[in-house]
Amino acid sequence: MADYSPVRGCIVFRPEGFAIWENIVAELDRRIKRTGARNAYFPLFIPESFIRKEASHVEGFSPELAVVTHGGGKELEEPLIVRPTSETIINHMFAQWIKSYRDLPLMVNQWCNVVRWEMRTRMFLRTSEFLWQEGHTAHATREEAEAETLTMLEVYRAFCEEFLAIPLIVGRKSAAERFAGALETYAIESLMGDGRALQCGTSHFLAQNFSRAFEIRYLDETNQWQYVWQTSWGVSTRLLGALIMVHGDDQGLRLPPAVAPVQAVIVPIWRKPAERDSVLEAAQRGILALTQAGVRCHLDDRAGITPGFKFNEWEMRGVPLRIEIGPRDVAAGEATLARRDGAGSASKVKSPLDRLPESVGALLDDIQKSLFRAAKDAMDAQTHEPKDFNGLAEQMEGEGGGGLAYVYWCGNPACETKIREETRATCRAIPLAQSAPPQSCIVCGEESRERAFFAKAY
Ligand code: ZN
Repeated sequence: MADYSPVRGCIVFRPEGFAIWENIVAELDRRIKRTGARNAYFPLFIPESFIRKEASHVEGFSPELAVVTHGGGKELEEPLIVRPTSETIINHMFAQWIKSYRDLPLMVNQWCNVVRWEMRTRMFLRTSEFLWQEGHTAHATREEAEAETLTMLEVYRAFCEEFLAIPLIVGRKSAAERFAGALETYAIESLMGDGRALQCGTSHFLAQNFSRAFEIRYLDETNQWQYVWQTSWGVSTRLLGALIMVHGDDQGLRLPPAVAPVQAVIVPIWRKPAERDSVLEAAQRGILALTQAGVRCHLDDRAGITPGFKFNEWEMRGVPLRIEIGPRDVAAGEATLARRDGAGSASKVKSPLDRLPESVGALLDDIQKSLFRAAKDAMDAQTHEPKDFNGLAEQMEGEGGGGLAYVYWCGNPACETKIREETRATCRAIPLAQSAPPQSCIVCGEESRERAFFAKAY
């Protein structure tokens, strides 16, 4: 799916990997536009002075910045930052575009690459350059901006669970885990097969931090100047890492059908040359019918490669469904369908050749659901509610330790720090709806009204 590049910290997306990202982009873009945001594009380079305008923003990003000091053979008068995120340059433009309450809300989204210099890199999860979308919105009131933050959180949740079949925990971040410059950060988090959590997307309520720094004001209905209220939200190519780690097994990738570039592959099987024509003809008819039904399918008619080798290769690539057509199948007017999410011969079923689109459609729907269910069961099995600090420490202990710990935490940063330092687990999310009665904090014993998910994270 990808290779490391000659530049440390960067990766090359191979066609197999990039096709998955393209499907993510296409579907998420549709869902984002449905909320009213429109796409725009802002420059890669940002004047260094822009980054300094919002104090906590520069503090959060300065160690990770890539800075351009020379261009055209000369030293630049002002260094340029390669965008780590586009808040500053977009807000610079918002200040020029927004004059009146009639210009609001202003909602833009951008698909682009960003650069955050990383010392430790991990394929898809932590790379110096990555691809993402970043949405930026400006609203007349605090309530509208807060509602937008939660709308996007829900868009991300639904997208990940429905399209990527990745179960999540959803909630707000603790102050320590918040985005630099945000008043509140909300996140979706998933749990990888190895028991470590991965932040899959964030939605930030920025309040007026940036509008005050960038003078983004509008004249309200009574002709008074007001600062706008803002949000920003994004997901990145990290989602590819989540897909691999949540659904992968010992044979390789397992792609949910919704996002799979190839949903079904037909492997024709013959021994004698005399069988070849009728098998290939049936396979081609199958491809035609599936394509017409909207199934993304591929005919693997490569010569000189055994069916067994082809099976392994498509399994490794995660194609959800394999369709085998041999001479006996043709004679019986059937095909053999093998699910990637199942195991052994139990996962094989027969379908009449002339009903292939219906059979494949139903199986793809079922595979999508079963992958989500399997991932959800795995997450639930690794979610615990330790009763005391020792229990929490034991859960996180050693290489095999991990999973989600759902514990009462009083909200005091000192207790959070103690958990991080002694167990390496960090606060991943504080669920928004909390109904259980207050209990004592797992660290200090003080009354605690909220429970939070802690986990070791990527
Ligand atoms: Zn406490």
